[in-house]
Amino acid sequence: MATKVDYASSSLGDAALEAAYDNALRLVRDAEPKPEQNLVGGLRHSTGEVVKRFDPCREDSLVGAAYAATPELVLQAVEAARGVKKSWAKTSYGERNAMLRQVAADVGDRLVELAAILSAETGKNRLEAFGEAQEVLDMIEHYCTLMEKNDGYLLQQKSTEAEKNYDLLVPYGVFAVISPFNFPAALAVGMTTGALVTGNTVVLKPSDKTPRSTAFVADIFAAHLPEGVINVVHGGAQVGQWLAGSEVDGIAFTGSAQVGWQLFELKGPRGLQRPVLAEMGGQNPAIVARSADLDAAAAGIVRSAFGLSGQKCSACRRVIVDDAVADELIAKIVRLADGLVVGDPADPRSNLGPVIDDAIATRIDQALELARRDGTVHTGGRMFSLPGNYYRPIVVSDLPRGHRLTREELFAPFLSIIRVSSFDEALEEANAVDYGLSAGVFSNEPGEVEQFLDEIEAGVLYVNRAAGATTGAWPGIQSFCGWKRSGTAGKGGLGIWYLPGFMREQNRTIV
Ligand code: GLU
Repeated sequence: MATKVDYASSSLGDAALEAAYDNALRLVRDAEPKPEQNLVGGLRHSTGEVVKRFDPCREDSLVGAAYAATPELVLQAVEAARGVKKSWAKTSYGERNAMLRQVAADVGDRLVELAAILSAETGKNRLEAFGEAQEVLDMIEHYCTLMEKNDGYLLQQKSTEAEKNYDLLVPYGVFAVISPFNFPAALAVGMTTGALVTGNTVVLKPSDKTPRSTAFVADIFAAHLPEGVINVVHGGAQVGQWLAGSEVDGIAFTGSAQVGWQLFELKGPRGLQRPVLAEMGGQNPAIVARSADLDAAAAGIVRSAFGLSGQKCSACRRVIVDDAVADELIAKIVRLADGLVVGDPADPRSNLGPVIDDAIATRIDQALELARRDGTVHTGGRMFSLPGNYYRPIVVSDLPRGHRLTREELFAPFLSIIRVSSFDEALEEANAVDYGLSAGVFSNEPGEVEQFLDEIEAGVLYVNRAAGATTGAWPGIQSFCGWKRSGTAGKGGLGIWYLPGFMREQNRTIV
């Protein structure tokens, strides 16, 4: 299985794997899901209200469920994590790595099952599901390797005969990890591994839209780690708020900017000293210059805008194109978008699944109405022929400059095209949003490419990338480091600067 996933394709390229996946998906869907339990200090708790999760592809079919944690249980989970933080911090990074690599090996043995659960719970197609499962493995290996390469982030400073000096990074203690629905395994594992590998203990709160996928990987972590090192509390936004408002020493979060910035306000008893490593949304632009290869641009844009039905933080939301080539580019984008197959992951041809729930579907319907009123809708919209919230990719142009559909994030297969008359104007429009996660440029003028790299206000940049204009960052290959309203760490996951965010610096002078 290649680590690079082509999000505009759907085939796994292996008949036996396809058959195994089909079988696993059937089993996952046919079995009545048992509610996921909360995990506190090694003990499983199955009390309280059950939050249900219905299959986004098929109405009225239960696909996951979890017992919602109470405020008391959340505090117990934090206490449990606090109880073992010293012993975990004292465990050498070599031993921690060994345990985490066992987690990866076990996940690797169950890749097909994980992919099937991911598809069932999120609706993502089989290729994307396997891509995510593979990313789990690569994420763990990448962070373990970083610990080794940096020798646990211990640096010997200038020492004399009289004294030895060390500068080192040490864990904060307990990290709350709050994970999203779109990559419920990979992103939960990324943040959790970041915290664990650096010597912190964890209380993980999975998205209530995808409890089963995240619990699947969390259970494998729990099987290989000492009790209390990983704890899991299920539930909705309120559980996240209880957790963030508790005595945790740091928070790792991936999700919407709205929720992410609330976490800052919930400083909790530890106040401002707590790190909040947040990766949030985007209004990611792809600039297409007059000199660009328009076929490459259209391919990269369609992959980025519509892969996973636009439910990626890094998805391309705006195309900013030179007027001289705009009509030609729009025609190419519409042709490719219309060629995508929208459907259930059980259909091997499916490129795009449904959007995650009714709430986002309502927002898409409202956005479409607004786009029809204020601009031109070239293609796309709701598919009433299928159960579930399926949308054909939506391409819109000619909204008035600064229109809210081109400024706010709609987590959906919805792409706006904006015409400009110069490269300077393109950059100005690209930067005219609060967000700054990813950005792409298509140009064959080296001067323009350089100007883009110098002036764009975003953390993850791609130049002339037909494989994904703004998406597709992979552990150890790209970093995922949002600027402005898109991220707080400034040093995102996947890259080489992430792990220090989970630690604080300490000088040790020893005579
Ligand atoms: N890693 C994914 C990408 O670069 C996106 C992850 C996310 O949406 O948070 O496309």
